[in-house]
Amino acid sequence: MKIEHLGIAVKELSVSIPLFEQLLNTPCYKTEQVATEGVNTAFFEVGSSKIELLEATTDNSPIAKFVGKKGEGIHHIAFEVENIEAEMKRLAALGFELLNEQPKNGADNKLVCFLHPKGTNGVLVELCQDKR
Ligand code: ZN
Repeated sequence: MKIEHLGIAVKELSVSIPLFEQLLNTPCYKTEQVATEGVNTAFFEVGSSKIELLEATTDNSPIAKFVGKKGEGIHHIAFEVENIEAEMKRLAALGFELLNEQPKNGADNKLVCFLHPKGTNGVLVELCQDKR
């Protein structure tokens, strides 16, 4: 439906939140820990989209690995979908590799599913749907 948010991996939210508040001229409106993913997140509104900053909370968090390998930067792009299960089925049938077989709980009251970047030109894609 739209680009719901861009995920940006950072080393420290305490440094990056004030930086993005200055950059975007808008306050961070929410921080949230997603323990199952080993991340702390911080959200900013940009028009009808968002920026999600991601900081690792553990050394084996996917974000810690990403930052260790590639440094800070754009980590994923999230597309909002109406029906995540239908979209997962559609993409799986087309041969895209889903990183989780069932929608899982993400930050910001969403159900999410990630697609393996090797099938999407190196871009980690997140599907997200509002929980109803
Ligand atoms: Zn995300």
